[in-house]
This record gives sequence, C-alpha cells and structure tokens, in this order.
Amino acid sequence: MDLEVLFLGTAGSTPTARRALPATLVTRGGDRILFDCGEGTQRQLLRSVGLVDLEEVFVTHFHADHFLGLPGMLKSFALRGRDAPLSVYGPPGLRRLFEALAPVIGRIPFELRLVELEPNVRLERDGYAIAAYAAEHGVRAYGYALVEDERPGRFDEQRARELGVEPGPDFGRLHRGEAVMGAGGEVRPEQVVGEPRRGRKIVLTGDTSPTAATRVAADHADLLVHEATFAADEAERARATGHATARGAAELALEARVALLALTHVSPRYGGAELRDEGREVFEQTIVPHDFDRVEIPFPERGEPAHVRAER
Ligand SMILES: [Zn+2]
Ligand SMILES: [Zn+2]
Repeated sequence: MDLEVLFLGTAGSTPTARRALPATLVTRGGDRILFDCGEGTQRQLLRSVGLVDLEEVFVTHFHADHFLGLPGMLKSFALRGRDAPLSVYGPPGLRRLFEALAPVIGRIPFELRLVELEPNVRLERDGYAIAAYAAEHGVRAYGYALVEDERPGRFDEQRARELGVEPGPDFGRLHRGEAVMGAGGEVRPEQVVGEPRRGRKIVLTGDTSPTAATRVAADHADLLVHEATFAADEAERARATGHATARGAAELALEARVALLALTHVSPRYGGAELRDEGREVFEQTIVPHDFDRVEIPFPERGEPAHVRAER
C-alpha cells in the first residue's frame, strides 16, 4: 500500500514566485486527502496530479492563507458538473465560514458536507484513522495525524510447511489469526505469525508553536510536517504570533523520535536552506521541501521515508 505526501504549497502567510500557500496532499492507496487549501491550490493540483475529484479536505484553521483556495476549487468542480459529495473538516467555525463564503461560491451541484470536529476526535477509515488535535496558534487551530492500523505479524511460510500446513487457503487463515489442521495436528497462528507490526504515521501540524500535544501525536511518526515560519533569531516573534522556528520544530522532532521532519509554512523572507541548516543542527533528518516535492513512506521494515525532489 503506497503512502505518499505531496507538498503543493510550502509558503506561509503570503506566496512567493517559488512557493504557493499551504496545501498538502496525502495519498494512501486510492485515497487522496487534502490538508489545507490555500489560494491557488487548484492550480498547484493541475500542475501535478491534476484537479482530481478530492473527497476529503481537512482545514487546520481559518486564517486566509489556509482556506481561500476552497471557493475557487469548488467552483471548478461545479463547472464540470461534479456530483460526488465532498467533505470539508475543520475546527468549530467551519459552518459560519461557509455561510460567509456562500455568495462567493454560489450554487454547487454536488453535496458539500461541512464537519466541525472536536479536538481528539478520530475518524476511522479503511485501514487507518485521521485524528485532530489542538494546536497553539492564538486562534482555534488543529493538527492532524494519519495513523494506519496495526498490521499482522510476518508469516513464516517455511515454519508453516514444516508443521504440515499445505500452502493455499490455510496460509491465509493462519495469517488472519485462525487455527488450522496440519499434518501433525492443530497449528495455531502464534506458531507461524510474528508480533503485530505497527502501521505508518504522518502528522501535519498546521500553524502552531511547538507543543506537548504535537510531541505526543508525533511519537515515532514516520513523517512530521511541522511549520517553521521563522529562524531561531526570530524566536520571540514566533512565540508572540503562535508560530515555530526551525530549531523549535527540530527539537520537537528529536524528542518525538520521528523518522523524518519536513518544515513548511516558510516565511517569504527565507529561501529554505537556512531553515534546513538550522533544523539539521538539532535533528539531522530535516528537510525543507519545495512545492511539488514528495515524500514516499514505505513500511518501516522496507526502508526510510524518502524525499523525492520535483524537477525544476
Ligand atoms: Zn498560515
Ligand atoms: Zn495561521
């Protein structure tokens, strides 16, 4: 099952020629989930995977740089006659926001489901869950964690054969946790199946100061996408505005023992390299993706998350 993160917009507050406003697309198998939808996101989609009929959009908070792409994208979906429903999730206030946007959006031919989430709510999906947790940003803001279900342990085929189990349906039954009859009597799953293996985990913080809640949510995450609006020399300003520095995000990543830290929401004053270097002084596995870069996340036993740079 492929799991991949595509950075569609890595700027914070205002766009630059190189960086668009916040939007991150997570793809897991056939599921495509958009986190934040800054102005211009539909064009970033067109320039990469296409303006696909997304089914779920999660908004971290209602600062303009994180949601203004929604009205235009909904209009485009409407103009091409989409009829599949679209769900938009966010903190309380989402419905009020859409009431204000209604005259802009106008009539749409598909069902728009607006779901206001309480913090720590967990939405179960097929094989994974998406959980919201409270961020610290001066306004109501969420981070989101995508957490895969535990997987069954490794199946020891050779051991199963030795116990007289015929390859075929009985292998599947054992792997699913059922006992079967072998040549010498009953064979139980624990004889041939290892310890359950953890699923993968991605955490996206949205705008926030570094917090204990993120540290807990990101514990042993395969990928932490943390905002780093500022460098450490602006630590005071970061604190005052509910943002993070590259150093602050890297310290958190180190404590949470994540596999890879991706810094986003880059202030227009930075190119990115200075934030990456500052992060790496604390946490070596730090990247500052550019727009259209991807991170591929294999199952842990198959390797480390890989930063795939877009062609430029
Ligand atoms: Zn922002
Ligand atoms: Zn914000």
